[in-house]
Amino acid sequence: MVNMGRTKVVGSAGRFGARYGATLRRRVALIERRMRDKSVRCPYCRTMGSLKRLSFGIWTCRKCHTVFTGGAYVPITILGKTFSRKEERELTRRRSQLAKG
Ligand SMILES: [Zn+2]
Repeated sequence: MVNMGRTKVVGSAGRFGARYGATLRRRVALIERRMRDKSVRCPYCRTMGSLKRLSFGIWTCRKCHTVFTGGAYVPITILGKTFSRKEERELTRRRSQLAKG
C-alpha cells in the first residue's frame, strides 16, 4: 500500500496525526469524502452540488438560498428527516426571514 510517507489509510483525516484513534479518523475521512460529493442534491430545488455548509449542521443552497439543518458535516442525514413540529416551524420562520433579508 502506498502511503506517501505521511498519511495512512485514513486519507484526508491524516492531518489529525496519531490523535483520536484510527477508527475515528477513518470515519472522519469517510465523512469528508461525502462532504465533497457533488451528487448531493438540494432537498428543496433539487440542484446538484449547490449545498454549502454555513456552520455545524446548518446548510444553505447557493441556488435557492434555502437554509436548513442537516448533519454536522453532511447535508442530509437519516435523523434529519425526523424534525419535531417545533423545529420545523422554527426553520420555516428562519427561512422566511432570510428570504426577506
Ligand atoms: Zn436549493
